[in-house]
Amino acid sequence: MYQVNNIFIGLGSNLSDPIQQVLMAMEALQAIPEIAVVQKSSLYASPPMGPQDQPDYINAVVELSSDLSAHALLDCLQAIEQQQGRVRLRHWGERTLDLDILVFGEHEINDERLVIPHPGIIERAFVLYPLAEIAPDLIIPQFGHIVPLVQNCSRSGLNKINLDLI
Ligand code: ATP
Ligand code: CA
Ligand code: CA
Repeated sequence: MYQVNNIFIGLGSNLSDPIQQVLMAMEALQAIPEIAVVQKSSLYASPPMGPQDQPDYINAVVELSSDLSAHALLDCLQAIEQQQGRVRLRHWGERTLDLDILVFGEHEINDERLVIPHPGIIERAFVLYPLAEIAPDLIIPQFGHIVPLVQNCSRSGLNKINLDLI
């Protein structure tokens, strides 16, 4: 497949040292020969979505270029989730690592395995703010320019983490 630019991946963790989980996942992505990590956002702490009786999350977004198909990229992401010990307990429940394909270039996909752009983007502060940090000019297929999307989304307790203080 030809190279696709402007691929954005959302990372999240709230178990087993979440900051390390997110940093390890970024390294695991970088180690895949067909993937180039172009940019990484800061790390953010955010309150959980879904069940509230779980720890806060660490979230980030990375930009990739890759010549993998979206489905092959999902296979890689799910393999990294498995390597980092992901166990499915409950919907939107606690996890060591979640990797979502947010945007895959200009592509729009809607099948049994993939919905791209990810439909959660527009309502999730923990996705929109790190995405806007690294791609302030991004135009998301179906959803439009990132700036009004961020402006219409409350930060909802999202906090940028200063890794120098940790
Ligand atoms: P959400 O997708 O609302 O953030 P989640 O991340 O908790 O929820 P998972 O349990 O991680 O959901 O994934 C369930 C399934 O979602 C995956 O097996 C995958 O096939 C599918 N899926 C659909 N679209 C995407 C996407 N854009 N990125 C990653 N997985 C996706
Ligand atoms: Ca998710
Ligand atoms: Ca997921």
